[in-house]
Amino acid sequence: MGNCPICGRPLENDFCSNCGYRVKYDPPAITALKKHLTSPLMLSIIILTGVRLLLSLIPTMDYDIVGNPKWSFNMDIDAALVLLSLLFIYLDAKKPVGVRIDPRGFKIIRTYYIVMGSILAIALLVAGVLMFVAGSVAADYIKYFVEGIVLTPTVIYIVAAVLILVAAYAVVLYVFIIKTISSVNEIAVSGAPNVKISSFLTVMCFITAALNLVSLFGLAGGITDIISTLIEAAVSGIAGFALLNLKKEMQEIKNSLFPML
Ligand SMILES: [Zn+2]
Repeated sequence: MGNCPICGRPLENDFCSNCGYRVKYDPPAITALKKHLTSPLMLSIIILTGVRLLLSLIPTMDYDIVGNPKWSFNMDIDAALVLLSLLFIYLDAKKPVGVRIDPRGFKIIRTYYIVMGSILAIALLVAGVLMFVAGSVAADYIKYFVEGIVLTPTVIYIVAAVLILVAAYAVVLYVFIIKTISSVNEIAVSGAPNVKISSFLTVMCFITAALNLVSLFGLAGGITDIISTLIEAAVSGIAGFALLNLKKEMQEIKNSLFPML
């Protein structure tokens, strides 16, 4: 047990009954969470998100209305917000034993995903509904030609159905991301091993990584777009592995703390 570092008396159960000193201690779930939130996987997600932000800051040359060249760049606000919250989470998880993880990083990233998820869901659903309306209007005119593509009502209905499916996938993905961030935040705040980390989200991380890679084939953009898409694929894949590891360790801690359950 050792002696009290303040008054030198023997400690009883990490506590000094002479001067009241208590040995600094993290519950096992907090120790594990701190380890996972500062792991090489987490660090690589932070670095890749930083690279994505930097790439968006590289100016590209455009032409204005009168044909004069002008340099412009579009800062990736998404990458900036995610990077900020991940940095908070990382630095707060680096805190010494006995200091809890501040939930500020989780709050920022959860708010970000709630706002993004809502905007995306509404935008895609509106687009999908408009396409169905357009499809029924097009039925009256039999067909449209848009840049050489024959837009029959059937084609419009298929595009609308795909849009609605994408919206549904995005909404489900965001809901699971938000729920998982809440679960991880709950571990940080309570110190209890929470195993409500979605296995479904882990699978979706790998699917999203695969979809990003597939989308490369249809990408008409420049080298920075290709690198950004590759980074997004890598981040999704790494996040999937990180979640798997965290879930596994939380289950082990829960099993060791409550062997009867
Ligand atoms: Zn003491």
